[in-house]
Amino acid sequence: MLLPDPASTRRPAPAPYKRIATEEAFAPPAMLDIYRRLLERGDADAGFRGLMGFYMTSPSERARHIMRCLTDLDALRLAHMDAAGIDMQVLALTSPGVQVMDSATAVSFAREANDFLADAIRRHPTRFAGMLAVAPQDPAAAAKEIERGVNRLGIHAVVINSHTQGEYLSDPKFWEIFEAAQAYDTPIYLHPNALPKGMYEPFYECGLDGAIYGFGVETGLHALRIITAGVFDRFPKLRMVIGHMGEALPFWAYRIDYMHRATVASQRYASVKPLQRRPSEYLREHFYITNSGVAWEPAVKFTQDFMGSDRVLYAMDYPYQYAVDEVGFLDAMDMPLADKTRFFQTNAQAVFKIA
Ligand code: CA
Repeated sequence: MLLPDPASTRRPAPAPYKRIATEEAFAPPAMLDIYRRLLERGDADAGFRGLMGFYMTSPSERARHIMRCLTDLDALRLAHMDAAGIDMQVLALTSPGVQVMDSATAVSFAREANDFLADAIRRHPTRFAGMLAVAPQDPAAAAKEIERGVNRLGIHAVVINSHTQGEYLSDPKFWEIFEAAQAYDTPIYLHPNALPKGMYEPFYECGLDGAIYGFGVETGLHALRIITAGVFDRFPKLRMVIGHMGEALPFWAYRIDYMHRATVASQRYASVKPLQRRPSEYLREHFYITNSGVAWEPAVKFTQDFMGSDRVLYAMDYPYQYAVDEVGFLDAMDMPLADKTRFFQTNAQAVFKIA
């Protein structure tokens, strides 16, 4: 099947459902000040330098436009949403959020960012919902921030930008965060981060470290590490969200199940322990998948078929992939209206507790 042309510019017509975009980035200006100081220090992580170093200093039109959009939670963003037919955005602190900061700064800035987000939601309650930033560097503080976010700010989801300085949530030292997410019924959106030290070079030398490929590989790995570490046997009500059509995991599922069983049986790795269920079952029962950046009908339909149509959600990935015509491609999918309504509207309302 032919891929739609990402350079076309058709505007979407009105639709019989609300379009809720569920992985939309913002950046408080104060966070960019912290990033600027980190970048000036010279010892910043290569992945962070490659990502935010580019966007914050490049004179290119794309970089300057994205920086303008990231910091706006009012007129400019609402105009872009209106032009693309987006009724509502679910906002997340742009990657890497606080995860690149030292622990104390990360804990205090996560609170500041969540207050900034809650203010924007109060200004535009019918246009914005959001996810809480937390600092995995301090799991106890992250758990407290989830409690504060739910009870004081009325925000019912969490975003974590994949690894934290090379460490993965599969490590039980982070599981206090899962415990809080389960207790407060806040799904965790595992969003990509710039690649960690050990992965960066083979991707960077060929320019494939970013959203084009590296992000998906690393975030898919992270989700799979969480599954194979037994997190969902320990936290049976924990829910997670992954973007970019599930970071390709649905396409891998058969092979992962086969090889996981074979690896457990051979006792080849101490780290690969028996699980109560197959890896694909955790993926289907504990995860939601958004299509962020993938406006491609066959991939959406395959993922709905694999996950169930109540587990696949629309996302645009604004402002990084502000592609108005993609909304039209997805409106035009040959799919029952009930499934399309789940995809664009009602799944997001359920997962993010949007009234
Ligand atoms: Ca994104």
